[in-house]
Amino acid sequence: MTRVFRIEPFHREIISKSSLLNVLSFLDANDVEIPVLLIDGEQLKRKATVIGKNIRGSKVFFAVKANPGIEVIRFLAGLGLSFEIASEGELEILARVGVGADRIITSNPVKTFKFLERAARYGIRYYAYDSREEVEKLAGMVPGAKIYLRLSVPNEGSEWPLSRKFGVEIDEGISLITHAAARGLDPVGITFHVGSQCTNIYNWNNALYKAKVLWDMAAKSGINFSVLNIGGGYPVRYTKSVVGIEEIEKNIDRLIGELFPGASVFIEPGRAMVGDAGVFVSRVIGKSRRGDENWLHLDVGVFNGLMESVGGIKYSYIVEDSRVGTEKGGRPAADRKAGGKKSWTVAGPSCDSFDVVDNNVMLRDPEVGALVLILSCGAYTTSYASEFNGFSIPRTLLI
Ligand SMILES: *Cc1c(COP(=O)(O)O)cnc(C)c1O
Repeated sequence: MTRVFRIEPFHREIISKSSLLNVLSFLDANDVEIPVLLIDGEQLKRKATVIGKNIRGSKVFFAVKANPGIEVIRFLAGLGLSFEIASEGELEILARVGVGADRIITSNPVKTFKFLERAARYGIRYYAYDSREEVEKLAGMVPGAKIYLRLSVPNEGSEWPLSRKFGVEIDEGISLITHAAARGLDPVGITFHVGSQCTNIYNWNNALYKAKVLWDMAAKSGINFSVLNIGGGYPVRYTKSVVGIEEIEKNIDRLIGELFPGASVFIEPGRAMVGDAGVFVSRVIGKSRRGDENWLHLDVGVFNGLMESVGGIKYSYIVEDSRVGTEKGGRPAADRKAGGKKSWTVAGPSCDSFDVVDNNVMLRDPEVGALVLILSCGAYTTSYASEFNGFSIPRTLLI
């Protein structure tokens, strides 16, 4: 069956032509259960090639929490990537794919006992910390571990800030570092996270200058660092255009060359690796008009995939035109008419009134039963999803 979608010029700036063609031809050729998350392997590979390319001495660790789909992990492992994890569940996925301990780090500053025990047994050597309590846990459970301190850094301009929960200031940092060394651990460096979906290039500058102060203080105390872990934060395009990875990395590389010459640099991208390789294929399950609002009900919502909408992520949608025939190679006849777009409130399938994904989304009127492609959904979607209200978590397919 050939489906017709209303593709508009701005969609082309969010999803590459080849990814879109891959998704559309997959949908034409396969009868898959909807909703489903499709991951375009070629796009994933492109991102894996781009990330880290412009930072000398860098090594890329994919943050598994962004998308722990087994096919995604196997694919990235096959490309030779390394991984950042936080739990025994994520470790289990890597173990199933055959990723060895030398390709795994853990940057969650506060780890469960269960995870630490498994990670130590698996042979993982690199851990984050930001408290005395964690130093004690690590000293007891992973003697001699290589550890890096999580520094608190400004998260301004990140759509998904991560700064409040973790990270210490410089003074506390230096006392933790010396304490950790005294406890037999191996303090090898510093880590930070500028915030996820960080579109402010200066966040990295602020973080690097701050890390430099601590780096030099440690050296004065006789502890020479070798690892600078710059965390994640690279953005993807959802609606608005964002600063490119190349531009971000060239800026970081220049500063690292100046401030931390010779350091080995860890990068932990999550969102940027998979985000724009993923397309949610959902279906319109209902429409209604309440007051002066047009409601569009989809089978994917806040609970089973679009949780980040609650934090302000706004997605882009491509709707199927299931009414009109097309002329050969042309657009649907209705498309040529002026206007026709309406403002919609987009809602998920559950009975909870919290399950509203977005307001004021301008779309042409889709039929009930039509498919809706939701772009840039590869990261923090299915990994956040629950089966609340009995709606199953959409499958992830690598295509
Ligand atoms: C979530 C997380 C990442 C990935 O962040 P993105 O913004 O998705 O790139 C990297 N490192 C740590 C420690 C994280 O918690």
